[in-house]
Formats: sequence, C-alpha cells, structure tokens
Amino acid sequence: MQTGTTTTKVQMAVASARSAGNRIGCVPTMGALHAGHKSLIERAAQEADFVVVTIFVNPTQFGPDEDFGSYPRTLEEDLEICVQAGADFVFHPSNGVIYEENRQVQLCVGELARRWEGESRPGHFDGVATIVAKLFNIVLPDIAIFGQKDYQQLAIIKSLCRDLNFPVEIIGCPTVREEDGLALSSRNAYLSEKQRAHATVLYRALCLAEKLVQDAQLSLKEIREKMLELLVSESGVIPEYATIVDPNTLEMLDERQQEMVVLIAAKVGETRLIDNREIFQQVG
Ligand code: AMP
Repeated sequence: MQTGTTTTKVQMAVASARSAGNRIGCVPTMGALHAGHKSLIERAAQEADFVVVTIFVNPTQFGPDEDFGSYPRTLEEDLEICVQAGADFVFHPSNGVIYEENRQVQLCVGELARRWEGESRPGHFDGVATIVAKLFNIVLPDIAIFGQKDYQQLAIIKSLCRDLNFPVEIIGCPTVREEDGLALSSRNAYLSEKQRAHATVLYRALCLAEKLVQDAQLSLKEIREKMLELLVSESGVIPEYATIVDPNTLEMLDERQQEMVVLIAAKVGETRLIDNREIFQQVG
C-alpha cells in the first residue's frame, strides 16, 4: 500500500493504475477508522481494482462550536486498518494542500441540506459537498463508497453527482454496529462507560419504531412520540429529532408508504450521535 500527502502523488498513482486498465474506487473518511470504515474499504476492494482511501478532517464541515480541534486523529492505526482492508493508496493531505487561503468558490446544497442534520449544523453539508467534489476532482474515481450511517449525507452526495454531472457511481453500505446495536462512530470515543451504555437507546428507539410501524396500530405521529419518550427516558440523553421520512426527499411522512427511513439525532452527554434504519412495508 502506498501513502501520500500531496495531490501530485495520489494523481500519479491513480493515473498509472488507470493506464493499466484498473477501475478506481475511492473511500472518503475523516480517519479514526473503525470496523464501519473497514467494511467500506473492503467493499471498494470488491468493486474496484485500485482503492484510494482519503483521510482528512475537513474543517469546513464543522461549525465554530463543534469538535474540529478535538476530533480523534489516529493515523498510524488507520494505516494498519487500510492495509488489512485492501486499500492500495491512502491520501492524507494537510489542510494547506486541500484549501487555498484565498479560496473563493464553494458549493451550496439546496433544501435537502437544510432539514434534520442541516438544521442543527448550518453549513455542514455545504462543507461536505465541497470536500467530496474536491476529492473526486483530485482522485477521479469510477466509484465511491459511503456509509448509510450518515443517511442524509449519502442522499446529498448522490444529488451532488447527479446535479453536477460527476461521472462517479455512488455505493451506499450498511451500518456496522456493536453487538448491542450501537452504530460504530469515531465520536463514540468521547463517551464514558456509562454514557456508552445509555447510547444504545438510539438503536432501541429505531427498533421500536420499526416494530410499531409493522404492527400498524399507531399513526406515524404517535410512533414519533413513542420514540421520543423512550429516548428521554434514558438518563443523560437529549433527543434532537426522531422522525420517519421519505428515503429520497427526507421529508417527514404523515402516512405509511412502502419505503421509509427512521432518522434519530440525540446528545448523549456532550456527544451528538445520529443513527437511522430503513423500513420496508407492504402497503394496501
Ligand atoms: P467519517 O470518517 O465519520 O466521515 O465517515 C467516513 C465514511 O464512513 C462515511 O461514508 C460514513 O457514513 C461511513 N461510516 C461511519 N460510520 C459507519 C458505520 N458504523 N458503518 C458503516 N459506515 C460508516
């Protein structure tokens, strides 16, 4: 596996792989890699011949009061995981390599970026869309792999490729969880042992919602209320939203439909966690 911090180095490696007829896959990450990231890299290695993992804690997607400074940075362990998972190149640039000091242009995502995550994190998805577009322009991948764990982000990246004609196939991968259901996240490192136990309530609320939707006794509004009740019942957990939405528009649903997604965001102590679950139902 090769590594590099400059755009020239990754571009040369990709160009040489491409000229040998290889299909190029890209897995963008912010590092602090865990088994969830590993599953994305393994999937990329199945779908492509030359896999580029990018590790960059992107400042433009963090708000002024967010955890950019304290976000875990574990490059050595990350490189080990990348080797095990079958990456061919790890691109881990510094801030200065990615962002010009005098930069003038950035992307602005529409309505899809303003609800749910976007409401509590204004500008977050503009930062995400901008960095992903930049990474795609540097790496020029044929495919790119993202986690369904960040459901709204995945929807926005698909829109980015469609709306700006990026010739990149986007593949979404299932969320990897701990045995007790907690979705793996780099931010779980912030949780104390107690908070870690309380945090499983997000997954329990997703399962409750699925069961109540399948039971068909309660309205979606009542199910949302039940989720919120369960979330607040756990000490130190403050829900931000718990909702059932359309998988494409992410608009809140009043009536059941064939495909739905439950989205949850909650603070566990100071740590903000998100999770989601797709629900499929035969209607009518
Ligand atoms: P991050 O480093 O948190 O920006 O995430 C990089 C990629 O890993 C994104 O596409 C995430 O959706 C994905 N990811 C994060 N956590 C998980 C997980 N538990 N299972 C699968 N993919 C994940």
